[in-house]
Amino acid sequence: QETILKVEDLKKYFPIKGGILKRTVGNVKAVDGVTFDVKQGETLGIVGESGSGKSTLGRMILRLLEPTEGKVLFEDHDITHLSHKKMRPFRKEMQIVFQDPFASLNSKMSVEQLIEEPMIIQTDMGKKERKKRINYLLEKVGLRASDRLKYPHEFSGGQRQRISIARALANNPKFVIADEAVSALDVSIQAQVLNLMSDLQEDLGLTYLFISHDLSVVKHISDRVGVMYLGRLAEIAPKHAIYKEPLHPYTQALLSAIPDTDVDLEKEKVKLEGDLPSPSNPPSGCAFRTRCPMAHDKCAEVRPELQHMGDGHYVACHLYDEEQ
Ligand code: SF4
Ligand code: MG
Repeated sequence: QETILKVEDLKKYFPIKGGILKRTVGNVKAVDGVTFDVKQGETLGIVGESGSGKSTLGRMILRLLEPTEGKVLFEDHDITHLSHKKMRPFRKEMQIVFQDPFASLNSKMSVEQLIEEPMIIQTDMGKKERKKRINYLLEKVGLRASDRLKYPHEFSGGQRQRISIARALANNPKFVIADEAVSALDVSIQAQVLNLMSDLQEDLGLTYLFISHDLSVVKHISDRVGVMYLGRLAEIAPKHAIYKEPLHPYTQALLSAIPDTDVDLEKEKVKLEGDLPSPSNPPSGCAFRTRCPMAHDKCAEVRPELQHMGDGHYVACHLYDEEQ
């Protein structure tokens, strides 16, 4: 399987200004050294609490936000520092679907205009061709041809998300980031939209980066899952390993919080206590140690790096160090 996207040691620090002179007094390390790749045609789920840096990560990959450090490679092209102009061909290939279709869809534009806009901006398709493609896309996402003249407020949340998906697919991208794309929807509607996205993936050969705060949402659609904590990956592994044999205490805690999870945790249920520490002042060593029932001396002193445990399963935790 070919690699479509590579992220290398990606970082985003937001300066904190303080005092009357508004000098930089510190940094919020929203993303602090994230490395992974995504294979052509797969879905990588990225899970974490709000504040874990997962949306910042998604925006950096699409170059909606400049990384502080690190690299983004799309089909082996380093796109990290491309100018607006040089980025254009890549923008067509990489799209994003956001959480709230009400906020992300211009309410004054009809469905037709919403789907047509990216074609007008990014391609030189003629009008006839565009209309044909709009019909094709509406059918693909399960909307009616007669819906094209309606406006976003005339649709339910799930239908609006279908419009967002049609818009994202307007120019036939290869790679789509879904950022909490179903989080605002009822559970039954979530399942419908997730099924639609799976079908579209198979049909069109799409690759997904599926960002969510909810491990149960990414479960069915993902091939692999990465778990983020305070701007870093705690664990990344094939789906079955994450859900059946999670190694990181944080992943274990997230899973025990899901009601009827089928995880075979031999250990006591790990309960997640306390709040996410501030990313402007993260704990030394392992950022999870303030909430970790297994924390020991080394955890305060040394930051754990991802280590390969076999079969594509990586974990950043001192419990798995050799000299333990
Ligand atoms: Fe817990 Fe230590 Fe592992 Fe961090 S490194 S998750 S504190 S055991
Ligand atoms: Mg898949």
